[in-house]
Amino acid sequence: MPNVSKASVEKLRHQKKLLQQELFMFHRVMEGMRRDLSYEEVLQLIVGSVTEGLGYDRAGLFDVDFKARTVKRAIGIDARGRFEYGFVEKSPIYPRKGFNVFSDIAYGYLKYFFSNNIFKRMPKAVQVLKNVDAGVTSNANVPIKVGKGKITGILAVDNLFSKRRLTKTDIVSLLNFATQAGLAMESARLHEQVKNQTVTDGLTGIFNRRYFDRQLAVEIKRSRLRKKPLSLLYADIDHFKRVNDRFGHLEGDEVLKRIAHLLSLGVRTADKVARIGGEEFAVLMPDIPLEMAGAVAQRLVTEVERDNSPIPAMARRKERVTISVGVACFPRGGVEGRQASLLRKADQSLYQAKRDGRNRVGPLLGL
Ligand code: GH3
Ligand code: MG
Ligand code: MG
Repeated sequence: MPNVSKASVEKLRHQKKLLQQELFMFHRVMEGMRRDLSYEEVLQLIVGSVTEGLGYDRAGLFDVDFKARTVKRAIGIDARGRFEYGFVEKSPIYPRKGFNVFSDIAYGYLKYFFSNNIFKRMPKAVQVLKNVDAGVTSNANVPIKVGKGKITGILAVDNLFSKRRLTKTDIVSLLNFATQAGLAMESARLHEQVKNQTVTDGLTGIFNRRYFDRQLAVEIKRSRLRKKPLSLLYADIDHFKRVNDRFGHLEGDEVLKRIAHLLSLGVRTADKVARIGGEEFAVLMPDIPLEMAGAVAQRLVTEVERDNSPIPAMARRKERVTISVGVACFPRGGVEGRQASLLRKADQSLYQAKRDGRNRVGPLLGL
């Protein structure tokens, strides 16, 4: 029997326990990645793993916003397993060594921070930690990294209730876990991005043509089954070529964003607003009969015309943008396979609105 001290046996036991926990955590987070969780759910899984699995009393995941130069608390979990979201409290960061702990970690000056007596140890420069609740003695912060060391957040843990002391070994295990967490977060983030891209328009953020086509088919079927009307608005910006010619294509894009925004604000949440062409928009309105659709269209035309800030250059010259809107409706339920006809009718109505002088609603066309 080699001469092993009791203390070192204890230490080895502790290390073994941490390794087992780490393995368990890796497994959980990997499972989470495979299960196609949303970003929000991945955050919950991560902070939950830190408290339950690694045995910390509380944990918080902080998003680093390098542009806004702040660390925003994204999600926290307390000892009772309750999630806390989006605290408004923000901690400033600044790319200068010693500005504060979060800042040093975010900009890579500090690999991690931990202390079992933070209030005593805390020098002036790390005042940010005074936000930690009174009573906390042990606290650790490690960076959340993705890819080749790019830091995207900070994982903070403390032992408010158990007062369990932290050791260097705890930190190593926490650092490993944070790397894993970073990958899971990035993967969830990318996944959500891709999912959104397939339904939204990159410029304006409203639904894209592909989504609109799919949704039109769905709503026609639904309106037929429920014998409910389905209305469609087809909006086109008036003399948009002139806007581009006078102010440039980029400013033209800003106008498109503004119009998309106004259209979205002007309808119910159940209505789907999509960009279906360069400067053409559609609004799909389930359960809305023709006359009502006409009223909505008129309101949108008026709101766009009244808007005095499409882009600063136009606002300065007191110039306005206008739209023309075509209206069509399946009055008593859609007819399956007749998507094209609803669109065609709305387009006809739009064409008439243009011919009648623009900045107006076309004739209300039923099918
Ligand atoms: P009308 O009142 O008859 O609709 O006149 P218009 O000038 O708007 O004519 P039309 O609808 O035929 O022209 C559409 C113009 O929209 C042509 C193109 O330069 C512009 N456009 C299309 N897509 C985009 C885009 O993504 N960004 C910008 N800036 N312009 C676009
Ligand atoms: Mg057009
Ligand atoms: Mg146009």
